[in-house]
Amino acid sequence: MSLTDIQERINRAEIKANRTKGDVTLIAVSKVQPNDRVAAILASGHRIFGENKVQEAASKWPEFRETYSDVDLHLIGPLQTNKVRQAMALAQSIHTLDRPKLATTIARIAQEEGHCPDLYIQVNTGAEPQKAGVLPQDADDFIKDAIALDLPIKGLMCIPPADEEPSLNFALLAKIAHRNGLTGLSMGMSSDFESAIALGATHVRVGSAIFGDRVYE
Ligand SMILES: *Cc1c(COP(=O)(O)O)cnc(C)c1O
Repeated sequence: MSLTDIQERINRAEIKANRTKGDVTLIAVSKVQPNDRVAAILASGHRIFGENKVQEAASKWPEFRETYSDVDLHLIGPLQTNKVRQAMALAQSIHTLDRPKLATTIARIAQEEGHCPDLYIQVNTGAEPQKAGVLPQDADDFIKDAIALDLPIKGLMCIPPADEEPSLNFALLAKIAHRNGLTGLSMGMSSDFESAIALGATHVRVGSAIFGDRVYE
């Protein structure tokens, strides 16, 4: 599918959900994709991208930014504390705040550097042992603690379990965000972004539907 096709599907889903057209931000997830595919999407005018790994983002985006200074980069993968400073220098948003140590590290470096990316708290909506994110029952306390650290918490993010109806996870994330006064919802990927939009997604993270399958080497 082309980027235009995806954008049209997003707009149709917005209208169907009685939302304003243009409400939802499309994050084009460029992880693992060859640079020529990314360059083509940049040339078409899109500027909002998602990367999973700090290392990969660092090897790719500073160079693209020499041509496209207005790139808006979202880090959507797990973040180690020793990579926080680099991540904060590279990305305008981090979607994977998921533990107290990471929150205090980001807060300290934000003080030192005088700026902080927009932050989303990852919630492990399916309570999967192998998956990152705070558990749903711990989310309210974690959100309050993060806000008390003066962190710019914009909303919540989730990755539903592969074998579950994603809508239940999206609805749970929306419910937790709403009761905590948060408006941002980073949810929905290539296979389920339309149902995420129906349930209030503000940011959808779409990779393979735009770029084609990822080829891991
Ligand atoms: C890779 C990835 C995506 C994009 O997945 P697709 O199925 O290719 O759209 C979205 N979110 C996260 C967190 C990812 O790691």
